[in-house]
Parts: sequence; structure tokens; C-alpha cells
Amino acid sequence: MKKSFILLFFCGLVLSVKAQTIVNRNADIDKMVKSVNPDSLKSYISKMVAFGTRSTISDTKSKTKGIGAARNWVVDKFNQFAKQGDGRLSALLDTVTIKPDGKRVDKQIVLGNAVAVLKGTDPNDKRIFVVSGHLDSRVTDVMNRMSDAPGANDDGSGVAGVIEAARIMSKYKFGATVIFVAVSGEEQSLLGSGFMAAKAKKEGWNVEAMLNNDMIGSNNASETQIIDNTKLRVFSEGLPAYELDKNAKIIRQYGLENDGKSRQLARYVKEIGERYVDQLEIKLIYRNDRFLRGGDHTPFVENGFAAVRLTEMNENFEHQHQDLRTEKGVKYGDLIEFMDFEYLRKNTAVNIAVLANLAKAPSMPTEVKIDVKNLSNSTLLYWKAPLTGTVKGYYVLMRETSSPVWEKKFFTTEKEIRLPYSKDNYLFAVQTIASDESESLPVVPSVGR
Ligand SMILES: [Zn+2]
Repeated sequence: MKKSFILLFFCGLVLSVKAQTIVNRNADIDKMVKSVNPDSLKSYISKMVAFGTRSTISDTKSKTKGIGAARNWVVDKFNQFAKQGDGRLSALLDTVTIKPDGKRVDKQIVLGNAVAVLKGTDPNDKRIFVVSGHLDSRVTDVMNRMSDAPGANDDGSGVAGVIEAARIMSKYKFGATVIFVAVSGEEQSLLGSGFMAAKAKKEGWNVEAMLNNDMIGSNNASETQIIDNTKLRVFSEGLPAYELDKNAKIIRQYGLENDGKSRQLARYVKEIGERYVDQLEIKLIYRNDRFLRGGDHTPFVENGFAAVRLTEMNENFEHQHQDLRTEKGVKYGDLIEFMDFEYLRKNTAVNIAVLANLAKAPSMPTEVKIDVKNLSNSTLLYWKAPLTGTVKGYYVLMRETSSPVWEKKFFTTEKEIRLPYSKDNYLFAVQTIASDESESLPVVPSVGR
């Protein structure tokens, strides 16, 4: 009896050691992930709630109440981290005048996004990775700018995650640039992220990924009463919103309807998030967003960038967009008492793991091709080196056409590979890998003749 117990224990040990080798966590990223502090997250949200309302059309002059005080506080917070750093982090309030639109803006306002830029260490690396939450909050009537709208979860949680990511990541060096942003005007029709995405497009920013965090800190569902803090949803578009007309023929011909760049990003979030964050399963949702709802990633996907929405698994509609009140014993409102800070810690950690992995990695391989000159039962892929970063090698990813996630990884130090699998039966992509194990986003090959 005793012997078999020891044997079982030994087997368990071997299994866990094996699992660790497969996981290949980067030590720095692991450290960053472990520094996420639920108490810090709670303190940021308490502060945001204390501004009363953060409605985009609320007061901007007061030092203590309204959206103006709130956005200045976020910029101050970013500046505080900047002072502790080595000069790479800088903060600003990026403002834009919005005219009354006859819908959700009834007077001229100066909207402001609170932005922190962590400049990359490689001057040749033009890549930008954006992480966002929305600072504005609302009650039942979206035009109500006076009543308390705590917005602890919607979207105090996303902004708290962004602030914590800036605090931790600004202590580390990355080749590429990371932008942390608390946008405003989400509830007024995605005004702040629309402003930022349009600017990024117009000025030719090389935004390779945008992570929108909107409600990532509450674990329980209204109606079905499910309580669970072990799952996070990632919403991503299937067919691209941008230039679909130009791409439709290729997408149909090669069956790439599930391989747009936002979907690739979602898969990457799942793989990297689950690699670094324990007790969390990331659910790929094959939709750009939920029914009847919008999100700050959408202006980015509409401008041709890879962007996804990270949202808690279960939503509680008694706590969203509600006037604070108690009716028939039910407490309505987006209050801090409904938050789960351990869940918010994990979801913040997912963002940091993904951003750090992306910003450390070399850029994507270029001119990735799949050879279709001949009928063949094997597959030949070839590509060119990335524009920036030092490459240890490449992962060639493969999956069944019906599989949601990559199933096999082949490592090579060459810039071509012939695989004994028919290109007719599988989907492929190639990513770069650095000596510290960080890997780029995958690139789906185009046809080479
Ligand atoms: Zn929201």
C-alpha cells in the first residue's frame, strides 16, 4: 500500500516536471505576471469610484468629481510610474473636441484619452502594441451626467488592469513600443477609441495588436447564477471588417475564413495567457462582440488592425448600466462590492503575459509563402527573416482545417521547411522565436508559384 503510494507520487512528480518543460515560461514574463497585485487593482478602482460619475459628458473642471478629475488622475498615475523608470515611459492626455451629434453628445465637449507610451529599446522596431480599458461610466440613462456611476467593473476593471500593466511593464525593457490607454467616450459610442484608431491609421502607426479590456473583474451571472472565476472570453472577428471585398476571393479559395489577423491574435492570447496564468481557461468566442453591445476594439478592426475584446465569462446585468437602487431586495449598480479581485488579477496577468511576449519577440517573418507549383502530398513553406529582432528560429504551426487552435509546432532554424503532410488537408502559419522563447504573431502563408 505504502509502496504504490510512493510510486504514484513519483509519477506525479515526473508529470509535473514534464509539464513545466513543455510550458517554457520566460523567467522575466513569469516575474511580471507574479507581480500583479490584487490590492493595487482594488486601490485603483476605489479611487475611480470616488469620482462619483465618470460620464464622458460630466464636469471636467472639478478637481474631485467627474471625468476631468478622473482622467487627470490616470495621467498622474502614469507620470508617477514614469518618474520611477529610466525615461522610456511618458504620459499625456490626448484630447479631441467632439461636437454635439444629436445622439449621445448634447453639447460640445473636450474628450481626453489618458495615454502612457513605453518606448521600445530598438529604434528600428516600429511595432506598437496597444492595451486599453475605458474610463467613462454610466447609469441607466446614458445622458445622465450627475448621478453616481461607480463603474467599478465597467470599466474600472479594464482601466485598473491597464494601470497595473503600465506599473509593472515600465520596469522592463522591450524592443517594441507598448501603449497603455484609458479611453473615454465608450458609452457615448466608442468616441475615444474611434479617435485613437483613426489617428493610428492616418499617421501610419504599425499597430500589430490591440487588446481591449472591458469588464474583466466580476465572476457571476445574473439569471443563471453561475459563479466562476476560471474562464475569460476573447472575442474576435472572423471575416475581416476591413477590405473584405479585396480579400474575399482568397479567403474563399483557401478556406481562410477562420484565419483573419484578429482571430490569430485571439489564438495567441489563449496560448500565451494559459501558458503564464494558472487556473484560467481562455475561451475563444468566434464573434467580434456580444449581441446589442459595442467595444473599443471595433474602431481598430474597422481600420485594419488586429484587435480583440477580453471580457469576463459571466455578465451580471443587474450591475451594468444601472441606477444605484434596491428593488425587491435586489441591489442594482456597478459597485465595488461585486468585484472579484483574484479574478481581475488573473485577467490582468493575461494582458501582461501577451504584451510582454509580443514586445520581446522578433517581428513577424516576412513574405511567408506556401508552394503550390506542383501537385504534392507534402507541403513546402518558405519565408524571409523578420525586419527586427534576433531570431533563434521559427515555429511552423499546423492544424486540421476544422481545428480551432494550432495542433503541431515544428521548429527550424532554416527559412524553409518541407513537411510530410499535404497542404490540401491542413492550415499552416509561421512565427519567429527569440532565444528567450518569446514568439511573434503567426503569419498565414500566401500562395507562392
Ligand atoms: Zn464597458
